[in-house]
Amino acid sequence: MNLTYCPRCNKLFAKGIREVCNSCVVEIEKEYERVAAFLKEHKGANIHEVSEATEVSVKQITKFIREGRVSTANLPNLSVPCEVCGLPIREGTMCDSCRAKLQRDVRNLQSQANLARQNILQDSKASKAFQIRDRH
Ligand SMILES: [Zn+2]
Ligand SMILES: [Zn+2]
Repeated sequence: MNLTYCPRCNKLFAKGIREVCNSCVVEIEKEYERVAAFLKEHKGANIHEVSEATEVSVKQITKFIREGRVSTANLPNLSVPCEVCGLPIREGTMCDSCRAKLQRDVRNLQSQANLARQNILQDSKASKAFQIRDRH
């Protein structure tokens, strides 16, 4: 059994698939319901107003939005900061431009890795050719 401290209430609990303890799972469900109910009535609220009215932390509401549990589609003032540049975004963890940049970086890394692999292949081919040539 893998015991760990719950990041939400600091109680010791057996770590399973969930990152918080069972009582926090129940609490978070209640918080989600409060947030969802509040947003149904107050579509123009921003995240701080939601937090104040529901007594749910901004962090937790942010999590609901990032996880896609709270949809911001009809909530014009609800946004969370991009994890990279802090720009307000409506869902997920990154704004469009940071996501595009990340994808570009990943592609660059991949092509660099491919290039390195090709070089290694060419090197080994070259050395084989060299060996063959050597034998004759
Ligand atoms: Zn807990
Ligand atoms: Zn960004």
